[in-house]
Amino acid sequence: MLPRNALRSLRALRPFHATSIPLATRPHSTIPKGPTAPNVLSHTTTKTPDAKRDISDPAMADYLCQSHERIFAANEKWAKEQIERDPDFFHKLSLGQTPEYLWVGCSDSRMPAETITGLKPGEAFIHRNIANLVNNIDLNVMSVINYAVRHLKVKHIVVCGHYGCGGVRAAMTPKDLGILNPWLRNIRDVYRLHEAELDAIKDDGTRYDRLVELNVVEQCRNVIKTAAVQQTYAEHGYPIVHGWVFDFRTGRLKDLKIDFAVILADIQKIYNIIK
Ligand SMILES: [Zn+2]
Repeated sequence: MLPRNALRSLRALRPFHATSIPLATRPHSTIPKGPTAPNVLSHTTTKTPDAKRDISDPAMADYLCQSHERIFAANEKWAKEQIERDPDFFHKLSLGQTPEYLWVGCSDSRMPAETITGLKPGEAFIHRNIANLVNNIDLNVMSVINYAVRHLKVKHIVVCGHYGCGGVRAAMTPKDLGILNPWLRNIRDVYRLHEAELDAIKDDGTRYDRLVELNVVEQCRNVIKTAAVQQTYAEHGYPIVHGWVFDFRTGRLKDLKIDFAVILADIQKIYNIIK
């Protein structure tokens, strides 16, 4: 007989690998599909027919060549359009950057920050990783935050997750995911912190959506715990931290409206590193 706590945890985990969870609708794309590697973060285990192609397959060789040509052609077209709109566009870019935003988003290919926000080159400093995590021993994200806040002096930091996040789903799957275990453990910790609220949600999809939101809120807390944010805010009154979630189903961003000042005050009871 398992202890009561263990049974409760198993009940909480079970729905996350149930097939009843509605999958995010993949956007229609005319881009030819390349080979699909096995991916634990993918929303589907169905491989495309191309996945069966051998590297020596002439069709695959053509596809690979066309893909690169398509990108360079698009780049050429984009560069020309920018110059037509503003002859000094690239000269101004070359002078330096003063972005107002730091964006911490998921690496998911379906949520390119600039595309869904309309932010232009030079307007956002971007960091992306699996499930938009802000881990205090991740030198990468900590360096990005420090540089963006102390040197670029961004005014807003956005942590943006997305419903249907494969990283969040994988974290809640009771399975050994190898090298991903320590990374995704951060999300399991979010579940543990909000276990009562999440367990009370009966609908699997709703609970999954809520975990995505709570993960964003917790990563916002992690941003606020940094010395760079606390010290710069004390001195200048910025940056402000925001938690947003992108919804593939509607294409819309949702502002979770976290109360930055309240969270900061709460955090500084324990994590105060202003001095
Ligand atoms: Zn994701």
